Amino acid sequence: MPHGVLHRFEAFLPVTPATPMLSLGEGDTPLVSCPRLAAEVGCGELYFKLEGCNPTGSFKDRGMVVAVAKAAEQGARRIICASTGNTSASAAAYGARFGLAPLVVVPKGNIALGKLAQAVMYGARIIAVDGNFDEALDIVKRVTETHPIALVNSLNPHRLEGQKTAAFEIVDELREAPDLLCLPVGNAGNIAAYWKGFREYHQAGRAKVLPRMMGFEAAGAAPIVQGAPVAHPQTVASAIRIGNPASWRLAVAARDESGGDIRAVTDDEILNAYRKLARQEGIFGEPASAASFAGLLQLARDGYPLAGQRVVCIVTGTGLKDPDTAMSVPGDLVETAATIEAVERALIG
Ligand SMILES: *Cc1c(COP(=O)(O)O)cnc(C)c1O
Repeated sequence: MPHGVLHRFEAFLPVTPATPMLSLGEGDTPLVSCPRLAAEVGCGELYFKLEGCNPTGSFKDRGMVVAVAKAAEQGARRIICASTGNTSASAAAYGARFGLAPLVVVPKGNIALGKLAQAVMYGARIIAVDGNFDEALDIVKRVTETHPIALVNSLNPHRLEGQKTAAFEIVDELREAPDLLCLPVGNAGNIAAYWKGFREYHQAGRAKVLPRMMGFEAAGAAPIVQGAPVAHPQTVASAIRIGNPASWRLAVAARDESGGDIRAVTDDEILNAYRKLARQEGIFGEPASAASFAGLLQLARDGYPLAGQRVVCIVTGTGLKDPDTAMSVPGDLVETAATIEAVERALIG
């Protein structure tokens, strides 16, 4: 059985007879129902889509497989991206798989440990620049203008084509689109991709409903909410620490066309949602991923009409990517002597 998004959604993707149909098994991620949290939040149904179950642990794989396949089809030898971490992990893996040398440009010292470990393991050339993501992206764009290296950031339209397949999966599974889709917004490609996916399925007659797109930026990196680029974005959620999103206009269009909203969630709200999701539901996403649920909790608190609504929150990446933030959360750890008595004492209290 062939797997992966190129095979499953070939009819909706820019696949030609010359496109290499490789896969690392991306897509087909779980949609987990959480009725207790739905009751707590006051919505009708609540699901979390676990994009951390993709091969490199984030949704980036859906778009990367398409971007890298098309680069290979067009005869590229090398690929390059700027990244807060997950794009580089994904580019490095798919570059290795398709035989294209990956080059990744990351902000020095500002990339979660697990993501850097992935780029190292997959054998990417890692260029750590003394600047932030926005500066790295600017450099990479200019470099690809004068060097024969394929750009695989989400400015590459094939990335969004691949990423829209997550919307297809949600509709295929629920047999309808949700009323509300909550997701984090960083460079803003994903919110644009989901909206494109929902619209395409709607046009194809596979869904009657179009969801309201609810995007959440981190308060210290909220250019779309504030209406101006942020020169020095700051947030614990490193995957959305972006001050000048590449897909800004597309995100605003998704918001306005869908009757949705783009709001800001504070780091405290993000970390609270991060812990709550792990401790109440066993879902461990990375901090940026928790912005979806943090946003939903904020909507509930602000009295946004949720009653009877079917809500899907996207958990964009696995929590294992960022062990440092996880270990900064107070845990319930007891160290004892290796004796039955000492362990028995540790069981109580
Ligand atoms: C890339 C990423 C985001 C942000 O997605 P954009 O398309 O840049 O808005 C959010 N969460 C995780 C885990 C990511 O890797």
